[in-house]
Amino acid sequence: MSAVLEFPIKKDEFTTFNPATGKEIARIKTFSPAEVLAAVEASRAVWQVWRITPFAERSRIVMRAREIILEEMDEIARLISDEMGKPVAEGYSAEIVPVLDLMQYFARKTEKLLKPRKVDIGLLGLMGRTSKIVYQPLGVVAIISPWNFPFSIPLGEVVMALMAGNTVVLKPSELTPLVGKKIAEIFEKAGLPKDVLQVVTGDGRTGAALVDAAPDKIMFTGSVETGKKIAENAAKSLTPVVLELGGKDPMIVFADADLEKASSAAVWGAFTNSGQACSSVERLYVEQTVAAKFTELVVKKTQALRQSVGSEETTDVGSMITEDQLKIVEDHVRDFLLSGAEILTGGERNSKFEGTFFEPTVITGADNSMRGMREETFGPTLPIAVFEDEKEAVSLANDTDFGLTASVWTGDISKGKRVAEKIRAGTVTVNEVLYTHGIGQTPWGGFKNSGYGRTHGLEGLMELVAPQHIHVNRFTFVPDVWWFGYSKNAIETFRTMARTFSSGSVLKSIKMIPTFLRRLRELMK
Ligand code: NAD
Repeated sequence: MSAVLEFPIKKDEFTTFNPATGKEIARIKTFSPAEVLAAVEASRAVWQVWRITPFAERSRIVMRAREIILEEMDEIARLISDEMGKPVAEGYSAEIVPVLDLMQYFARKTEKLLKPRKVDIGLLGLMGRTSKIVYQPLGVVAIISPWNFPFSIPLGEVVMALMAGNTVVLKPSELTPLVGKKIAEIFEKAGLPKDVLQVVTGDGRTGAALVDAAPDKIMFTGSVETGKKIAENAAKSLTPVVLELGGKDPMIVFADADLEKASSAAVWGAFTNSGQACSSVERLYVEQTVAAKFTELVVKKTQALRQSVGSEETTDVGSMITEDQLKIVEDHVRDFLLSGAEILTGGERNSKFEGTFFEPTVITGADNSMRGMREETFGPTLPIAVFEDEKEAVSLANDTDFGLTASVWTGDISKGKRVAEKIRAGTVTVNEVLYTHGIGQTPWGGFKNSGYGRTHGLEGLMELVAPQHIHVNRFTFVPDVWWFGYSKNAIETFRTMARTFSSGSVLKSIKMIPTFLRRLRELMK
C-alpha cells in the first residue's frame, strides 16, 4: 500500500510516515545547501570553545543525556517503532540498551583512551630526544546516517565525536528524521552548548550539501552506492571519510554445532529488524550431514514468529521500511524460485496488514550463483546452502563482494577461531550472531565493499582525532650531524651511521662514536 498524504507538502518540507500503517507522522523541514553551510560554519565557530572544554564537563553532559534517555525510554522506543517499523521490543533491545552502554563507556573512558602516548624512538632517545603523541580533535564531524538503526547508529557516533572534542552536524535519514531530531533534543535538555550538535534534516541532497560544506570528517553509514558518491565528493575538499556500508553476511553451521542454538540464532539473525540490518544473516551454509535436521528446526521456529505492527509488545517481526525495499525482496525471492531454489515457508508480501510487510522466508537449495546470495537483500529472507567440509565452507563464505560480519557455529572452539580468521570480514563471531555493533567497546567496520574505517572501540575513537607528534630535543648544545656543511667527513659519518646506528643496536652504534665526534668538531668549528 502506498503512503497516505493528507495535505500537499510545502516546497521546503518533506513527510515522514509510519511504514506499518502508511500514515503520515509529521512534516519536517528540508535544509537547503545554504542552511547546511551555515550550520557547518556555526559548528566550526563553537568548536573553538568545545575543543578546550575539559573531559569532565563533556562527560557530565553525556551522562546527563544518558539519564534523559532512561527517563524517556518508553517514548523513544515507541517513536523508533512508529517511524521505522521495528518491533517496540527491538527499540529497547537493539537501540536503547546498547547505546546507553556506549555512552557510559565513552563518557568515563575517553580521557584515558586519548591520553598522550610516549613513543620509544630507540637510539635517538639516548641522544636527548623524546617523542609523544597527543590526540587533537578534528573540528566539525558530519554524521550521515541510515534509517535502519535510527537512534543507536547516529547517537553512538555523536557521543564519541563529542567526547573526542569535536562538534557535530548530523544528517539523519529522511525516513527517520524525528528520531534524529530527538537526539538533538536530548542533548539540548542535557545542557550541551548551542550549535555543538546540530541536526540538518532532508534527503540525499541535504546530505550532499553537508559533504560539499567540507566538514573535517564524514562518518557515513548507508548503501555502497551512496558511500561511493560521498567518497568522490569528499575527495574534492580532501575531507576524510569513514564508510560503513552494506553486507551479505554468511553464517556457517558445522555438524558439531549445537543445532538448537544455531537454528534460533539463524532465525533471529535473519529476521530481526525484518532482515534490515547491515549484519543480518543473508546467506546460511550448513554442513551437508545435518542440513535436513537443521533446516527443519529453522522452518519450525520461523513459522512460530509473530508478525505484526511494531507498536504491539509481542511483535517479533515488524514491517519493512518502504515499498522500494520490499520490491527488492520480492525480486530476490522470485529469482531464487526461477533459479531452482525452494521456498519452505513465507515467500510473499504479508497482505494482512496495511503497510509494507513481507513474510519471514526460508529458502533451501540456494547457491552462490543466485542474485539473493550475491546482492544485499535487506529483508526477511534466509537462504540456505550446504557444504561438504571446512575448506568449502570458507570458500563459499568468502565468495562475495562484501565483508562486514560473519558467524561460525561449532562445538569445537579452536576450529571456530581457525575458520573465523580465514574469513574476510570486519567482525567474525563464533557461536554468536549479528549483535556486536551493540558492544561499543569493540571496533565496527567492514572489508571489501562493506567500506573502510571503523566506528566504535578505540579504533573508532582514533577516527575522530588527529594524532599529533610532539618531538623535543633537549641536547641543544650540539648541532645535528646531518645539518649543512657536507664534506668528505660528513659522508663517512653517514656511511658509518648506515652500518651501525640504523641497525637499532646500542652495541653496534658504539663503533660510530669516533666518526661522530669528528663530524661534530667539524660542525662546531
Ligand atoms: P542510503 O545510502 O540510501 O542513505 C544513507 C544516508 O545517506 C541517508 O541519510 C541519505 O539521505 C544520505 N544520502 C543519500 N544520498 C546522498 C548523497 N549523495 N550525499 C550525501 N548523503 C546522501 O542508505 P539507507 O537506505 O538509509 O541504509 C541502508 C543501507 O545502509 C544498507 O545498505 C545497509 O547495509 C547499510 N548499513 C550499514 C551499516 C554498517 O554499519 N556497515 C549499518 C546500517 C546500515
